[in-house]
Amino acid sequence: SADTSMYKAKELGRNNIQFFRPDMKEEILNKIQMESLLLKAYENKEFFIEYQPQFNAEDHHIRGFEALIRWDSPHYGRVAPMNFIPLAEEMGLIIGIGHWVLLTACHKFKELDMRFDQNLCVSVNVSAVQMRDKNFVDTVKNVLSETSMDPRQLELEITESLFIDNIEETIDMLNEIKALNVRISLDDFGTGFSSLSYLRRLPIDTLKIDKSFIDDLSDQDSSIRIVGDIISLGHNLDAHIVAEGIENSTQLDYLKANNCDCIQGFMFGKPMSVKDMEALLQKNPLK
Ligand code: C2E
Ligand code: MG
Ligand code: MG
Ligand code: MG
Repeated sequence: SADTSMYKAKELGRNNIQFFRPDMKEEILNKIQMESLLLKAYENKEFFIEYQPQFNAEDHHIRGFEALIRWDSPHYGRVAPMNFIPLAEEMGLIIGIGHWVLLTACHKFKELDMRFDQNLCVSVNVSAVQMRDKNFVDTVKNVLSETSMDPRQLELEITESLFIDNIEETIDMLNEIKALNVRISLDDFGTGFSSLSYLRRLPIDTLKIDKSFIDDLSDQDSSIRIVGDIISLGHNLDAHIVAEGIENSTQLDYLKANNCDCIQGFMFGKPMSVKDMEALLQKNPLK
């Protein structure tokens, strides 16, 4: 019908004219179903967080953990973030979900800080949609005061998609966050839109090298190994470098030889439950 084909065309972007195909109906119904289940998931507390450890490359001490959202749906089973975050962004629901992740992670880390006193950092992914919300800076402030979290132990992971438009406004907003002493990390670095001319103007503390570059390191034939250059570039910007997605010692050796600061990947630890994270900290007293 005209209504449903409009819906699809709109989803694909304003300038995209699409004709209705019979198989679209199923796609549309699937999407509507996921929207309604996602809304309920939020209300029914079907979300939880796993934490993946990050280590110093030199001594393998734990630097902190990245908070990663999980959705266990009674209908679908486990749904990967890549399969529901974009929909949550489209629905605006990511603002509420993102607030919940930030609050939950900060709450947990304040507690861990009091128990283990290892000065760990928690990295929380923040969607561009969430950051463009005019209340975002206040939300961060409120979470910090509600949880008494030391802002220096919180790192927000942003992506380059944030800079597609309104660069000046975005930089101002990031500076407001920096003024709270919260760390800012540029995630999936190298895959996005950063031009070197404005990269130097961003108040970035950490650069996370995208997994695709790390994957290239274990490919014997790979002629271009630009990871070393990315690390030097990051250090020239006074950023701390985290490599993500490390799975083998070829990658690790290269990264260490090229002065990468921190490492994160299945080789050292998969995303884990709160219980497993606490057991890991218990086992590894760093004091
Ligand atoms: P990301 O922030 O780049 O997170 C890293 C992803 O790589 C995670 O996938 C992690 O499980 C995976 N990973 C880490 N080390 C390895 C490795 O050695 N091998 C492989 N194969 N994978 C590895 P995950 O948890 O599925 O998350 C995917 C993406 O979803 C994240 O990418 C992030 O963009 C988004 N995401 C996750 N949690 C949140 C959240 O709370 N809020 C928002 N806005 N986005 C989130
Ligand atoms: Mg402390
Ligand atoms: Mg991340
Ligand atoms: Mg990433």
